[in-house]
Amino acid sequence: MLDPKVKELINTQVNKEFYSAYLYLDFANYYEDQGLDGFANWYVIQAQEERDHAMLMRTYLFNNGEKVTLEAIDKPDKTYNNIDDPLKFGLEHEQYVTSLINNIYRAAQDVNDYRTMQCFDWFVKEQGEEEKNAEDLIKKFTLYGHDPKGLYALNQELLGRVYAAPSLVL
Ligand code: MG
Repeated sequence: MLDPKVKELINTQVNKEFYSAYLYLDFANYYEDQGLDGFANWYVIQAQEERDHAMLMRTYLFNNGEKVTLEAIDKPDKTYNNIDDPLKFGLEHEQYVTSLINNIYRAAQDVNDYRTMQCFDWFVKEQGEEEKNAEDLIKKFTLYGHDPKGLYALNQELLGRVYAAPSLVL
C-alpha cells in the first residue's frame, strides 16, 4: 500500500493525463479543420502518449495494492485564433504537468517512498522531453511557419511522426 497522499496524487494524475490526451485531441481536431494534417498527426500521437501515461499510472497503483477511481474529464476550453496558438498552449500545459509530476515526486520523497520515486524518475525525465518537444515546435513555427512553403514543409515533417510505445515497463 502507498502513503494516502501519494496514492491520491497519482490517482488524480491519472485523470490529468487523460485530460492531456483530450486537450491534444482538441488541438488535432483544430488542425484537421485547418487542413494541416501533419500538425493533426503530431497531436493525435501526443494524445496516444498521454493515454499511455494514464494507463502506466493506473497499473502502478494496482501493482501496489491500490484501487483506482476515475473522475470526469474536463472539457477542453481553448480558443484558437492563430495556427500557432495550440503550440503555445501545449508548452504552457506541459510546464503545468511538470509541476504536478514534481509534486508527486516530492510527496513520495517526504515519506521515503523510494519505489514511487524510482517509478516517477521516468515521468520526470519524460516531462523534460515533453517541454523540449513543445519548445522545438514553437521555434520551428517561428522560423518557418509564416511562409506558405515553410508551413507546408513543416506540416510534411510532422506528418512523419510515428507512435512509439512508452519505454517504461511496469
Ligand atoms: Mg503526460
